Amino acid sequence: MNLVVFGPPGAGKGTQARMLAEARGLVQLSTGDMLRAAVAAETDIGKQVKEAMETGQLCPDEIVIRLISDRVDEPDGANGFILDGFPRTVAQAEALDALLKDKNKDLDAVVEIKVDDDLLVGRITGRFTCANCGEGYHETFRPPKRPGVCDKCGSTEFTRREDDNEETVRRRLTAYHSETEPLVDYYSGTGRMKTVDGAQDIASVKEQIEEALSGL
Ligand code: AMP
Repeated sequence: MNLVVFGPPGAGKGTQARMLAEARGLVQLSTGDMLRAAVAAETDIGKQVKEAMETGQLCPDEIVIRLISDRVDEPDGANGFILDGFPRTVAQAEALDALLKDKNKDLDAVVEIKVDDDLLVGRITGRFTCANCGEGYHETFRPPKRPGVCDKCGSTEFTRREDDNEETVRRRLTAYHSETEPLVDYYSGTGRMKTVDGAQDIASVKEQIEEALSGL
């Protein structure tokens, strides 16, 4: 099964994609994670995208399309993949259709996680991640059970994304509305669009997604 999970920054795409990938044996492909890794490793791609990422703008379509095109061929995606944060423009969606056709693969569903802007800023500015296993947390909505200790792996090291500050979040939301939201129209006509209410807590969003995908 191949899926796209899409929605505004802070909607919970990464959290839901991670749980869905574990439950269904799929690989989660996050262009944001790939690009952050490229920036940290100071690769050529990393150098080209660093400024856009730090300022909350989208990176060039050609770069992210190439990343995904190379990645979907790897053996860990044999059961299927969940694209998290890609496509983010109509040009990327068209490129995805073309590359899947070329590889004889199909897109089974596009899960839209819908959340109003006023909720998102608070969600994003409070979030942090285990530096060891990548488990996601939030100061208010999902603190670790034991303060300062990761529930999943016991690590005491956590990180915050550099672009999770209010000013950059607002720019990321603007980019979402102007460049990514048109994908709702792009996918609506295909019958593969499943919209869930992302304002609910993590467990209820997970349930909604499971229900939306139950027939697949
Ligand atoms: P994310 O982790 O999905 O919130 O992405 C973080 C940042 O990476 C975004 O603000 C963009 O600068 C960049 N990025 C991630 N995915 C894409 C994409 N599909 N197209 C363009 N830029 C992207």
